[in-house]
Amino acid sequence: MSSSEQKSGESVTIQTEQGLYVDPQALTDHLSALAYRDGALYMDEVSMDEVVKQYGTPCYVYSKQAILEVYQAYTDSFASLQHQICYAVKANSNLAVLGVLAQAGAGFDIVSRGELMRVLAAGGEAARVVFSGVGKTYLDIEYALTQGIGCFNVESISELALINEVAQQLDKPAPISLRVNPNVDAKTHPYISTGLKDNKFGIAHEDALAVYQQAAELSHIDIVGIDCHIGSQLTEVEPFVAALDKVIELVHSLRAHGIDLRHIDLGGGLGVRYIDETPVSIDEFAAALLPKLSELDLTVFFEPGRSIVANAGVLLTKVDVLKPTEHKNFAIVDAAMNDLIRPALYQADMAVIPSVLPSNGIDSDGTQPWDIVGAICETGDFLAKNRLLSLATGDTLAVTGAGAYGFTMSSNYNSRPRASEVMVAGGHHQLIRQRETIEALYADEVLWQDK
Ligand SMILES: *Cc1c(COP(=O)(O)O)cnc(C)c1O
Repeated sequence: MSSSEQKSGESVTIQTEQGLYVDPQALTDHLSALAYRDGALYMDEVSMDEVVKQYGTPCYVYSKQAILEVYQAYTDSFASLQHQICYAVKANSNLAVLGVLAQAGAGFDIVSRGELMRVLAAGGEAARVVFSGVGKTYLDIEYALTQGIGCFNVESISELALINEVAQQLDKPAPISLRVNPNVDAKTHPYISTGLKDNKFGIAHEDALAVYQQAAELSHIDIVGIDCHIGSQLTEVEPFVAALDKVIELVHSLRAHGIDLRHIDLGGGLGVRYIDETPVSIDEFAAALLPKLSELDLTVFFEPGRSIVANAGVLLTKVDVLKPTEHKNFAIVDAAMNDLIRPALYQADMAVIPSVLPSNGIDSDGTQPWDIVGAICETGDFLAKNRLLSLATGDTLAVTGAGAYGFTMSSNYNSRPRASEVMVAGGHHQLIRQRETIEALYADEVLWQDK
């Protein structure tokens, strides 16, 4: 080990001149779903090697219990208030995941009518769904209203007019909140920051009162709430508090103008620990917000996505090819950016751990720095860079924190079928989505016919 290595108290990593070592044992100590037993990786009593034997790789695996634990932490932490946890479907929209949450009583935050159809197919209730997103179409609005959506989170005046028009045609008033952009810095990656005035999201704080007054004049609009969502993977509580303060200001000014609300929606965005981050806990988050919220006499909504599912999931992948070169060692695995795009898209650092623990940790025989890459024809196709691992072809690796924005962002680039998905609970595993077949990828395509 070199002199530059460092291990802080909380840290599960050792940074050397060669690369980053993520201690698999220490990492799994922070992840409730995962543990090594006799050196083999388990999720909730199920061996990951057994999952690989049965379902192959690449394969997403989710822990039902880990999902419910976080959901429960939200409902417990806000138990003193009327509240509704609306799970953000885009983080992971598998029907089994939605079904588990629907059964636990969750509401849902959706951004398309496709997501609403999934929620309903999974047993969710439309009345407990909020509809977010900057570009709702006529069809989206019509479908949601017909199903009895709980609330549209409206992001522009033109959307408001469109919703009113559809509602008028269906003769069914539309429940709405305005998504207010509080102009606070979420201090997260710019691509997942949404609450700054330069972002495309929401209605500027200073325009909100006037837009509410316009909404109140519309014949088929029923104002029910106020909404904000400032970004994702926030690790500090201050931006949430700053946003809440701005929204509360508006609640008071709306009241003074005779516009009474029923709920306040603070969006999602709570961060998770992928490797070494120390995000604010749900308890601390609640402790910071509760004193302010309890004075409002409004039902409180949250829209968490990542924090509920990220650490409930792993992506299992097999090492296909080891390619040491003069400058770098590449481990080419059977998962790629089409399966998990977060590293390529936002330079996200995700932990990659072996399904079987190395005997001597960082000092194991053959430990070397590896770039864990896919087989896609893009240099941006990597899952992790410069990781100290002891690898052989045929090894199974687990990318942790893959339960959120993993499968849902996957694609068929390079005509690669999307991965299978498995859920585990109580020692059992169940396939919750079959691996796509290659034939299915072009089944809807038609050859050109010369006339
Ligand atoms: C993506 C999104 C969420 C969920 O964000 P997370 O960071 O996954 O908790 C909630 N609300 C809206 C409007 C979103 O776009």
